[in-house]
Amino acid sequence: MSQQKCSRCAKPIPVGNLLYRLTIKVYADFDGVINIKAQNMDLKKEFEKIKSYPEELIEEEVFKEFDFVLCPRCKEIYCANPLHLPLDNVAIDTDD
Ligand SMILES: [Zn+2]
Repeated sequence: MSQQKCSRCAKPIPVGNLLYRLTIKVYADFDGVINIKAQNMDLKKEFEKIKSYPEELIEEEVFKEFDFVLCPRCKEIYCANPLHLPLDNVAIDTDD
């Protein structure tokens, strides 16, 4: 196995050292409710429009996966706030 590099801080992670894999999957979900407004649209026209889009674009709209390697420090930072939400009056020390 070759040396890995942290996807976040770019620090090399020597062979044999602890590293973390981060996989993020973003996919479309459906709550089972069809919006009434959709009945007013020309569904055949909409379908033809969607068929003309590049396949990769449609796939990305439905499913997207990211794979990262994290060093232990970046794993802690990521896990503390995975959605990168604003932290009110909270200071996080990110120095090494
Ligand atoms: Zn890192």
